[in-house]
Amino acid sequence: MAEVVGETPRVRTIVLDVPDWDGHSAGQHLDVRLTAEDGYQAEREYSIASAPGEPVSITVERLEDGEVSPYLTEELRAGDGIEIRGPIGGYFVWGPEAGGPLLLVAGGSGVVPLRSMLRHRQQTGSDVPVRLLYSSRTLDDVIYREELDGAADGVEVTLTLTRAQPPGWTGYSRRVDAELLADVAWAAAEDAHAFVCGPTSFVEAVAGGLVELGYPARRVKTERFGATGS
Ligand SMILES: Cc1cc2nc3c(=O)[nH]c(=O)nc-3n(C[C@H](O)[C@H](O)[C@H](O)COP(=O)(O)OP(=O)(O)OC[C@H]3O[C@@H](n4cnc5c(N)ncnc54)[C@H](O)[C@@H]3O)c2cc1C
Repeated sequence: MAEVVGETPRVRTIVLDVPDWDGHSAGQHLDVRLTAEDGYQAEREYSIASAPGEPVSITVERLEDGEVSPYLTEELRAGDGIEIRGPIGGYFVWGPEAGGPLLLVAGGSGVVPLRSMLRHRQQTGSDVPVRLLYSSRTLDDVIYREELDGAADGVEVTLTLTRAQPPGWTGYSRRVDAELLADVAWAAAEDAHAFVCGPTSFVEAVAGGLVELGYPARRVKTERFGATGS
């Protein structure tokens, strides 16, 4: 593991130093396995945050009562080794050859694989139009905030802050619902590719909402991070 970068108070990015990495597609994930001194093992999946061609990185949100994420976000230091397997997954992936427009919808750390897609788009010079709808508890919890503020031409970022909003906030401040999707998503007639990622309940609500808007189910790809809430 080469480097650790703080993203928010609860989230950090871990840049891995993987010899002989064969490359990955934007949207894929890794299995991370930790082994305690007594041999006890715990394995969790983490999306790859970096674009194909960049050093492999993951971005982990700390869950207070979690087994693996507190270790990855608080104890792991540059130079420590961790065991990974991957890349994994061939369904929740996007490359410029797939075209667009793209609708990316994230709840919390669900933005991680979508960020890989955004970086991939930029690095390949793709001009596919993108709308990213990102639901976060507060502005301080927005991961990759600076990078999203400076998003490339053709990328529209819409935040909704579900728990608290800074003074003067004029953006959305509620959970993603059908009305909000109707405001932000491409019209069904645009035949967009939708990628939805986050906690299970979030993903199910958004995917259902998109189908209600007329998106064909095959155009709505989902990745569930587990648990509920956002
Ligand atoms: C394909 C895939 C990709 C993933 N990518 C990422 C990623 O990029 N970044 C990231 O931070 N996580 C990601 N996750 C979630 C990750 O795998 C772990 O589930 C998460 O880090 C919690 O692990 P833990 O050992 O700390 O908690 P655990 O000990 O497993 O769980 C502790 C408590 O938290 C609850 N919980 C478990 N998972 C979540 C969750 N995702 N949100 C809220 N509560 C939860 C459990 O129900 C339990 O009550 C991904 C999951 C999948 C399936």
